[in-house]
Amino acid sequence: MKKRIAFYGGTFDPVHNGHMAVAEGISKRFGLDEFHFVPAFHAPHKPENRPTSAFHRYSMLALATASRSGLYVSPLEVEQPSRPYTIETLARLWEIYPEDRLMFVIGADSWEEITTWREWERLLTSVDIAVVTRPGYELRTEHVTDKAREIIIDARGENPFDGQTEGTRIYFTDVAFVDVSATRIRTAVADGENAWRDMVPPEVAEYIDKYEIYRGRCGGRPKV
Ligand code: ATP
Repeated sequence: MKKRIAFYGGTFDPVHNGHMAVAEGISKRFGLDEFHFVPAFHAPHKPENRPTSAFHRYSMLALATASRSGLYVSPLEVEQPSRPYTIETLARLWEIYPEDRLMFVIGADSWEEITTWREWERLLTSVDIAVVTRPGYELRTEHVTDKAREIIIDARGENPFDGQTEGTRIYFTDVAFVDVSATRIRTAVADGENAWRDMVPPEVAEYIDKYEIYRGRCGGRPKV
């Protein structure tokens, strides 16, 4: 039977409760069979913005998803140091899941800068996309093409998922509205504050403590 599977790309440095709320909210709203986090590998030629080792970022996602039904982490991009563009990742996913209905999930900040993505016009009209609200960001539509605007469904508020099977859609959703960012967590850990512990799943907090991630040891980012 055809499965509905969503993919959620990002740096996840670290995965936090905002990401988890998106995963759980989208899974429920769209009745998904599977939701996969896809951590990005970052090329070493961008030293000024180097994320924590992909091994650690992947491990934290593995811990965060292990006991949560329907949530997974995918090695697809970290296995490819060439840093694939999203449109290339989509092509690989279609090879892996030829029978299933795929969806890409992005936050409101990514939606705002979508026109900088490689082949963004094609991406927006070739796979279902769920755009999730995030505090501090509006969901605008002026920056995308008419073709993309025509397939936007505003699924915020009481508007249910339409369950359509013909063609693809861009869904605006408000399944999560959690004011947390990975930058805030990294800064708080590096500054020796404690408030960050409530912003990540407990297993992730333990991992950050144990390996001293964001305090400059074990391949973590030294200081933000
Ligand atoms: P950083 O602070 O390092 O930029 P981040 O918290 O934005 O990190 P990313 O790993 O860059 O997290 O985000 C991955 C995806 O998750 C992006 O599409 C982003 O828009 C989305 N996202 C991140 N935080 C939230 C949140 N609190 N609510 C909704 N979406 C979010």
